[in-house]
Amino acid sequence: MKNIDSEAEEKHRAKMAKRKAVQDAEVAGKTVAEKGLLIVNTGPGKGKTTAAFGLALRMLGYGKRVGVVQFVKGAWHTGEKDAFAAFGDRIVWHTMGEGFTWETQDVKRDIAAAEAAWAKALELLGDPTISLVVLDELNIALRYDYLDLDSVVTALKARRSDLHVVVTGRNAKPALVEAADLVTEMGAVKHHFAAGVKAQQGIEF
Ligand code: ATP
Ligand code: MG
Repeated sequence: MKNIDSEAEEKHRAKMAKRKAVQDAEVAGKTVAEKGLLIVNTGPGKGKTTAAFGLALRMLGYGKRVGVVQFVKGAWHTGEKDAFAAFGDRIVWHTMGEGFTWETQDVKRDIAAAEAAWAKALELLGDPTISLVVLDELNIALRYDYLDLDSVVTALKARRSDLHVVVTGRNAKPALVEAADLVTEMGAVKHHFAAGVKAQQGIEF
């Protein structure tokens, strides 16, 4: 253990007191008590969807209701869907039919799936009993122009003032980033796929 004499102790105390004063001033400067946030998790690194579900769990912890629309149905059944089912009617979950993936290769079907998913999203956005809406991979539908960007951004901006919304997916459109309150770009520093490691249960799905 580091040897701490009384001089070092006093120095530490003074440093921490100063830091606390800075932090207290910063907190005092925040005047907006409650606001429904538009949150965007984007970027090439892993963690966009799982971070969104982390927020869902946090919200459920307060007894609130959460809505989820998955715009792209992954190749796998996912553990989170089953886990959230334990919350009963406090979670409303829509995975759009087969959704669209690079596997369907049928643009008309993809557009129809994206539109159907967006219709569900609008339902959730209009539900006064829901506190958080997760629009998983909405960015992908926007990227391929399967949905009209303006109408989507307009509807998200017009959300109830205390409703939180999380949008995930790579390549978030600038107009969405502009409209958002909180945007996180996940950076891909290292990914096991590059080393030939397959998707792992409980980690990827
Ligand atoms: P997760 O669902 O694990 O939070 P994500 O939402 O950030 O991931 P997506 O773009 O939705 O990522 O991709 C989903 C899948 O692709 C995940 O299984 C993830 O492990 C994998 N993946 C994410 N980033 C990378 C990457 N940089 N290289 C290879 N595979 C990746
Ligand atoms: Mg994802």
